[in-house]
Amino acid sequence: MRIAVLSRNENLYSTRRLKEAGEALGHEVDIIDTLHCYMDITRARPAVRYHGKELPFYDAVIPRIGASITFYGTAVVRQFEMMGTFCVNESVAISRSRDKLRSLQLLSRRDVGLPRTGFASKADNVKDLIRNVGGAPVVIKLLEGTQGIGVVLAETNRTAESIIEAFMGLRANILVQEFIKEAGGADIRCFVVGNKVVAAMKRQGAEGEFRSNLHRGGSAKVVRLSPEERATAVKAAKVLGLNVCGVDILQSSHGPVVMEVNSSPGLEGIEKATGKDVASMIFNFIETNAKPHNTKTRGKG
Ligand code: ADP
Repeated sequence: MRIAVLSRNENLYSTRRLKEAGEALGHEVDIIDTLHCYMDITRARPAVRYHGKELPFYDAVIPRIGASITFYGTAVVRQFEMMGTFCVNESVAISRSRDKLRSLQLLSRRDVGLPRTGFASKADNVKDLIRNVGGAPVVIKLLEGTQGIGVVLAETNRTAESIIEAFMGLRANILVQEFIKEAGGADIRCFVVGNKVVAAMKRQGAEGEFRSNLHRGGSAKVVRLSPEERATAVKAAKVLGLNVCGVDILQSSHGPVVMEVNSSPGLEGIEKATGKDVASMIFNFIETNAKPHNTKTRGKG
């Protein structure tokens, strides 16, 4: 098959692994820089242009859209969808997953386990907002944060109030969340392909750090999932409409809770921690599922 990987950087581990794995399986794999794609929207026949030429028809596209280019990146993915190219993750699903609040609302509607979470824009009900998620300690998160930046633990109600008021004063969108202390600074990254968890790792935050992000000095090791954890990850991916994603779960006293679903999960951490060839599994998924004009949303909304 002819497959494009949409990525800003061909030297990234994930991008290199996808090219290598796809080619080893006999596919033709092109790495296309998302921001260098441009589109002629006025024509009846949708196309994507790249460095002065129209791109050929791809059987499938693997979007690796970084959080900083979500707006343009999803527009490029949508253009491929309109051409009938099978996109491993569709534009609408990527947009959903990028908005933490929207994702949590969709997941809660379908009864997926979540930490108790509150959201408000005005500072007049801050005390009630904190009380509603069970009172301090609480976690306060910037909606636009990634890699653990903008995730703050407030140990007392007074501190929580000041932090929330400060963020609101800056007009930042925030979530207030029950602190899952029993997770012990660890979370579980479930790598979902199709409707299976194909690999999972437990990430432990550095000493004295409640955030387990590897970018913040956390370490990872392979983990065996409980059936409930597995089912939660698969359901979260399904609710958001993502075929390939990383579902981050905390082990709470009231069962597994989903913290976040990542639509461009990195391959390096998970492949190194588990020794699994996750890149090839993504191509195996494409081999079974890619059909032209098989897009569910066909570039809508
Ligand atoms: P980001 O998207 O910036 O990585 P997350 O919401 O995933 O932000 O939070 C970063 C880390 O902080 C998580 O991986 C987890 O270890 C920790 N964390 C986040 N929310 C909670 C919570 N409610 N209770 C306990 N730990 C949390």
